[in-house]
Amino acid sequence: MALSTKSLPVVVIAGRPNVGKSTLFNRLAGRRYAIVNDQPGVTRDRKSVEIILRDRSVSLVDTAGWEEDDPQTVFGRMRKSSESAVASADVVVFCVDARSGITPVDEHFAQWLRKQGKPIILAVNKAEGHAGDIAALEMYSFGLGEPYPVSAEHGQGVGDLIEAVLDALPNEDDEIFEDFEDDNVDRPLKLAIVGRPNAGKSTLVNQLLGEQRVITGPEAGLTRDSISVFLCDEEGEVELVDTAGLRRKARIDETLEKMSVSASLEALKMAEVVVLVIDAELGVHEQDLQIARLIEREGRCCVLALNKWDILEDREAVRQKIKDRIEISLTQMNGIAVVSFSALTGRGVHKLLPAVRRAYAIWNKRVPTGALNRWFEEAITRHNPPMVEGRRLKIRYITQIKGRPPTFVLFGTRTSKIPMDYQRYLVNGLRATFDMPGTPIRLQFRDSK
Ligand code: GDP
Ligand code: GDP
Repeated sequence: MALSTKSLPVVVIAGRPNVGKSTLFNRLAGRRYAIVNDQPGVTRDRKSVEIILRDRSVSLVDTAGWEEDDPQTVFGRMRKSSESAVASADVVVFCVDARSGITPVDEHFAQWLRKQGKPIILAVNKAEGHAGDIAALEMYSFGLGEPYPVSAEHGQGVGDLIEAVLDALPNEDDEIFEDFEDDNVDRPLKLAIVGRPNAGKSTLVNQLLGEQRVITGPEAGLTRDSISVFLCDEEGEVELVDTAGLRRKARIDETLEKMSVSASLEALKMAEVVVLVIDAELGVHEQDLQIARLIEREGRCCVLALNKWDILEDREAVRQKIKDRIEISLTQMNGIAVVSFSALTGRGVHKLLPAVRRAYAIWNKRVPTGALNRWFEEAITRHNPPMVEGRRLKIRYITQIKGRPPTFVLFGTRTSKIPMDYQRYLVNGLRATFDMPGTPIRLQFRDSK
């Protein structure tokens, strides 16, 4: 299954002010993106640009500068301005100045950088001429591997530097789902169909299978083990998990209502996408909401299926009412995909699997790091993190650690104090900006010193 979650590898240029990071950035980018200035520490935003290095597309990031260059605080600020970029990096190009040699700030920064566990390429800039080569040689002692003498300004040595960066990049094949726990792209999507008794689940499954395969009558000795059936369409295979859960209802008639929630839980734990079938004629019941909450809690992606469309009169009103009820009760389901059909006649059922695949793609979504941080900076500026106990909370940066569902880590100070409504603000912003309707979005918080 082709999924659009491929992300570019990130190459970050880091180093103290004035070593020539912007010049190197521009040289690699082949255009003048960053503002280059002689004065140390001229403020500039972090720049990120997609470039092609030889034959690989990468996202190149130049780390930010700062207002003034006070040696007392330079390292702290250097780290602060680089840490989000470095966290997202696949490769860090650590830039030093051949003319000034290694300074204590470089040393300090290098020490910190090594701990970040990213591949580091040591670029010794301003190395034009013989003196530069000698300076570069001296930097072997730095313990960051082979120094690459370059002149960002004149373009010397840049080819070798690019080769080194390319060598350090992850394999192209690893770029898909690079951070995701599940990288088995070609296996069938796992789908569970859940809902209250009599919503029409068995009828739907039979309709999807195109023949009577799910046993609906009471049968002695039916195994409780879950059974998967496979559906196939042009897009590939879908594994319907826990069809035993569908049959179980026939055995224990009297506890139907109670069972449907716990049976749903079992089924959805095995699934990636969950179709919540609602009897549209009856509308949303508390039990439907209970099941929806479980789906959200387990971080599954959900498609809402409004069944028995054949016996409805005012269809648009019904659809709106049901969607509203779900979205109001479960904010994470905002924008959820809704498909309406008649499982009995089969009309409209063909819309279900495409909706399932779309939801699945969103659930797997990987937001590009550059865009994520651009959004983040704007979001916290527009609406500052609140004051708690008289002090403003700080969130410094955000990074997506995985998909399925999309999960983001925010780094800052006293992040455990971030109130729910601010978290919701961020989640809603992520959802709207990066087009992730109806999928649960997870935030985690980590305090960084
Ligand atoms: P940044 O603050 O680290 O991004 O540094 P800049 O890119 O702004 O460059 C700082 C200064 O170093 C500027 O005056 C550049 O013209 C100069 N510079 C950058 N690269 C080179 C180089 O390869 N050789 C020499 N001689 N100067 C350079
Ligand atoms: P389950 O308990 O969710 O598996 O529900 P079933 O598939 O057993 O269906 C329950 C009842 O609803 C059966 O009598 C079905 O014939 C009926 N039913 C299912 N789907 C539809 C539909 O789309 N339209 C109508 N009118 N009845 C349906």
